[in-house]
Amino acid sequence: MSIAWAGGGSVGEEKESNWRVLGVRVDVITMEETLARLAEFVAEGTPHHVVTVNPEYVIASRRIPEFRAALEAADLCLADGFGLLWAGWVLGRPLPERVAGSDLLPRIAQRAAREGWRLFLLGAQPGVAQRAAEMLRARYPELQVVGTYPGSPAEEEAPDIIRRVRVARPDLLFVAYGAPAQDLWIARHRDELAVPVMMGVGGAFDFIAGVAKRAPLWMQRIGLEWLHRLIHEPWRWRRMLALPHFAARVVAERFVGERAW
Ligand code: UDP
Repeated sequence: MSIAWAGGGSVGEEKESNWRVLGVRVDVITMEETLARLAEFVAEGTPHHVVTVNPEYVIASRRIPEFRAALEAADLCLADGFGLLWAGWVLGRPLPERVAGSDLLPRIAQRAAREGWRLFLLGAQPGVAQRAAEMLRARYPELQVVGTYPGSPAEEEAPDIIRRVRVARPDLLFVAYGAPAQDLWIARHRDELAVPVMMGVGGAFDFIAGVAKRAPLWMQRIGLEWLHRLIHEPWRWRRMLALPHFAARVVAERFVGERAW
């Protein structure tokens, strides 16, 4: 269902989000409002899919209809990338702030420790989710991580992974299989998984476990996180062509309208 918090609206007041960039929905919501929304999802108990939209997602969604459908069906679409904020500025519809999955995960862990929410960390290289769980537990000793498992997004592994998740009964499931695989996987299995909050988190476990280094704050603030990743993971260059593609399309949307795509 396409729902979102109204920009400055109070918690509890929902309305249809009409913020779109190149046709992809992004919910107008702050980090604090996101945490409140997740608390509601946990209380409701039915499955919810949270997606962290960045320029690569937007471009990929134009190529992969199943991914586009997954984003459209998501319960919450967060503005993960700096590029989204930039697009808001170019299009004259500013977003309140960036809500990056990598920033959100530690905030959720903090809240989860307080509220008794149960977390499951799925994906990343063997041992990484386990290490991330240990780091989070060291910071928030009350935190309940009820499962970690590397697995893979391969469909033949899905029944086993789903069984593991169901036995653990988490309130929140974080999936690190990279985009778009992680969100396609959640969308395909959301009803069988039956977890109140399911979210693809990309490299977040790697950052928390210390396997990968996130860009320094100053680079994040001026929109150069992509450059840091490119320097450390040069094989990403092809994927990153999505960034200039996105920028050119946004500028075209600004001057020609949505027909530009
Ligand atoms: N990953 C995985 N299985 C896969 C592909 C990726 O576990 O088949 C993990 C990878 O180890 C990393 C995470 O997915 O921890 C995110 O990868 P990436 O940084 O490419 O994601 P992005 O945030 O760029 O989408």
